[in-house]
Amino acid sequence: MSLVDRSALMHSYAEPPVTFVRGEGSVLYDSTDRPYLDFLSGLAVTSLGHAHPVVADAIADQARTLSHVSNLFGNPVGAEVAVTLDRLIGGGTTRAGGQVFFANSGAEANECALKLARRWAGPGRFGVVSTWGAFHGRTLATLAATGQEEKQQPFLPLPDGFDHVPYDDLDAMDAACDPTRIAAVLVEPIMGEAGVVVPSSDYLVGLRQLCSERNILLMVDEVQTGLGRTGRWFGFQHLGVEPDVVTMAKALGNGMPAGACWARAEVAAAFVPGDHGSTFGGQPLAMSAVRATLWVMEAEGVPERARIAGARLRAGLEKLPGVVSVRGEGLLLAAVLANDFAVPAAREALEGGLVINAPRPDVLRFAPSLLVSDAQIDRAVGILGRILARFAAVFGPAGSAPAGSDGHPATAVPVERGGAGGAGGADDG
Ligand code: PLP
Repeated sequence: MSLVDRSALMHSYAEPPVTFVRGEGSVLYDSTDRPYLDFLSGLAVTSLGHAHPVVADAIADQARTLSHVSNLFGNPVGAEVAVTLDRLIGGGTTRAGGQVFFANSGAEANECALKLARRWAGPGRFGVVSTWGAFHGRTLATLAATGQEEKQQPFLPLPDGFDHVPYDDLDAMDAACDPTRIAAVLVEPIMGEAGVVVPSSDYLVGLRQLCSERNILLMVDEVQTGLGRTGRWFGFQHLGVEPDVVTMAKALGNGMPAGACWARAEVAAAFVPGDHGSTFGGQPLAMSAVRATLWVMEAEGVPERARIAGARLRAGLEKLPGVVSVRGEGLLLAAVLANDFAVPAAREALEGGLVINAPRPDVLRFAPSLLVSDAQIDRAVGILGRILARFAAVFGPAGSAPAGSDGHPATAVPVERGGAGGAGGADDG
């Protein structure tokens, strides 16, 4: 029960089940100082854990030096970070040869990509194909790209020019990509909010080939998957594909709001001064947090850590009762349950001191800090195992109705529309 007076907040989020007041590494504390293992990281944001000292010091130092300067003037921090990101997109050692626009969120990074595609393709060719189930943001254009009709419905009409096809379906993409109309394809390398859906290994390769043949941009939304989370710096790097545009946000500032849209130089050149901008995008305070985050990420080798820790978490989850499969890469994982008890299970996990969420009624998602320890992984698996054993006993095998015979609160709790639904809710942004 929250003790905070929320009466002056818009009701765009469901009532939170707990209010956190501080965090340290992979542990969050509520107002009674009760610790919770954070296996969600603010939805893949605090990849270095909470209150990382290097990031905290960088923010404090920059705040005392120069907290903001307009993009009318130069600032050295943003330029340095852009070079680092270009190198990480190139795999870590050599620069990819692209350029970056800084924004403040994932939606804004994608908004930049969508505008850039229109500018690059020229008048009349402004279509974008994305996939059903995808999540690209909440602004009107990124909502139009988001492949979820229930999120779009209350806000119709949305901007024109957005088509959707099933994910991981190259034939459908092939049919949708009319080069006289379509400027870009926008895809997540793994669909996060859809429940950590991993496509076939030839999907991105096929998309690259299709886009190259038809002179259509391949734009990869790495807002959730980027910056080490999947065991590589970026999700597309698992498949050796070179996209034209890459967007990122979440983990970029380890909690300091920041987003970025990278494009290869020839595409980036479509923007001329005055085409796009942001008061805060790329400003020194945010950029110093990003610079420190990237320093620590490189020093700690977080992609490799995510790969190793992800294998441990996956192995632990696979053994739990009621788990039929585990999908994902690195430390972006989902446990697919035998039945629709993910929402109440996530709520019980929270009560048991473990923060996770349920992006789908039968899916639990895990996105811990990339610096999470083995002991913390084992503890999280232990907490969840005790909870899932009870749910699996009540719900029975896949497809059967909940037994609900022991008075246990196992009846499916609906995921509130448009709300975070506490720890159990579905929505990412
Ligand atoms: N793209 C993806 C893949 C996301 O997961 C999200 C948020 O969850 C967004 C875009 C939107 O990011 P933001 O909420 O920062 O606008």
